[in-house]
Amino acid sequence: MATIIAIVNQKGGVGKTTTAVNLATYIAQRGNYVLMMDMDPQANATSGFGIDHRSLDKGMYEAVIGAASMRDVICTTEHTGLTIAPATMQLAGASVELVPVDGREYKLREALAEVRNDYDYIIIDCPPSLGLLTINSLVASDYVLIPVQAEYYALEGLGQLVQTIGLVRDNLDSQIGILGAVITMFDTRNRLSNQVMMELYKYFPETIFRTVIPRSIRLAEAPSHGKSILGYDPASKAARSYERLAEEVLDVIERKLTQLYHPTTAAPTAAQRVHIPIA
Ligand code: ATP
Ligand code: MG
Repeated sequence: MATIIAIVNQKGGVGKTTTAVNLATYIAQRGNYVLMMDMDPQANATSGFGIDHRSLDKGMYEAVIGAASMRDVICTTEHTGLTIAPATMQLAGASVELVPVDGREYKLREALAEVRNDYDYIIIDCPPSLGLLTINSLVASDYVLIPVQAEYYALEGLGQLVQTIGLVRDNLDSQIGILGAVITMFDTRNRLSNQVMMELYKYFPETIFRTVIPRSIRLAEAPSHGKSILGYDPASKAARSYERLAEEVLDVIERKLTQLYHPTTAAPTAAQRVHIPIA
């Protein structure tokens, strides 16, 4: 059964889609079956794989409202083992249409049940809000990964995000946990980046991935070619950073599962960053 990871931060433009697309690609490259799911009506992850969302007759909107099965919306990508469930602009309507619906928070989880056994990992790219599309994504997921941009206002909103995740876990029949935060668009020459990083470590000492994603023009260019960084410039520093992040994510998940099956295992040290407290 697939492990499902939602890439979430209600702040816009922090690197959610870039992280979702490239993490999914490198997890697949390591021999896993991966579904990249686009839950953002902006459809950036969809176009990032070279798919013209305006030409699609169905996508995640139809899957979430029950008008199409998941298998009918899934498309292939150029990468072995990686498929995508695309978004279309219609998805914006779902967050309004679902409001009066009974069990509105569980629609994505229900839709996903059909394909969950087909994959090792499902990566969900969320929109920049904490609305119903994000709540559906959280309810459907096992873990949350939070991209944090290395800039001055990075910490703003993180408390609210952590609180929302806690509310989902306590009230919506969910076991969701925070996998970690990953620092994106990091520039070593920028003193502010370094300050933000130190500040973040102060707030979340156990939840920050060791891998830091550098600011890279190659990462920004890749989507305009309809490619992941693995397809666009696999030798670049940015490509290697996402490759390392994928390894680290798989490693953390494996350790969490080991803990689950061997509850007598000694508590992990802070350095192992596997115990994630939820405020
Ligand atoms: P939204 O909230 O709108 O969905 P997002 O959080 O998904 O945004 P991205 O779309 O991944 O953020 O990134 C925002 C912009 O920054 C994009 O133009 C992207 O190409 C660029 N970008 C992302 N990561 C990097 C990076 N490490 N270096 C340089 N540019 C980046
Ligand atoms: Mg995005």
